Amino acid sequence: MSASIIPIARPSFTFIGERLWLDFVNTDATRGKVRTDALLSFDSYLRWLEAAGALDGERAMTMRRRVLEQPAGATAALVEARRTRAILRQLAERGSRADRPRADAVAELNRILGRSAGTRRLELRRDGSVARTFVPVGDAFTGLLIPIVESAADTLVLDELPRVRRCAGADCSRVFHDATRNGARRWCDMSGCGNRAKAARHRARTARERHEPTSAISD
Ligand SMILES: [Zn+2]
Repeated sequence: MSASIIPIARPSFTFIGERLWLDFVNTDATRGKVRTDALLSFDSYLRWLEAAGALDGERAMTMRRRVLEQPAGATAALVEARRTRAILRQLAERGSRADRPRADAVAELNRILGRSAGTRRLELRRDGSVARTFVPVGDAFTGLLIPIVESAADTLVLDELPRVRRCAGADCSRVFHDATRNGARRWCDMSGCGNRAKAARHRARTARERHEPTSAISD
């Protein structure tokens, strides 16, 4: 099946992954016949980072100026972001069951970390919350990936990979961290995939009941 790619606008960004790196993986997601990709342009990449809280407004403005000065650098950074995303998707989908995606991801995370120098900072936000930020020096384009890479690193270090799942919805490629106590989350969202699955179960049940009117079927 070839899905058409739709560049997504800010209002369409969804953050259901529970972890920044999983939301980043979900910037390229297929649901049914529709594929959305937030990394089709560098500007869209910046807008996603801002929406995700991984880039503050001031730095975003600096980056937009830098894009005008170094368009080739921005293009290369976008290619790098997409490459990292593909490797992180492998990690999200198979990382807890296979060694290879984990080894590939560790190499990729180290590659990005090795190229980025900068300063760690704590930022006090207006709402009183505190965020850990990274202010890159040198190759600022690569620095954009640092919060994402750190989020993935946290999952590996904390051994949370077995909690990472792909949505059980048919034709849905979204991934998420299952934060439920009993590890029972199956859907990216209840209003979309979860709801469709519920409706499909209901249809199957009523069809069965029509054929076997005497049997009691529980859900
Ligand atoms: Zn889904």
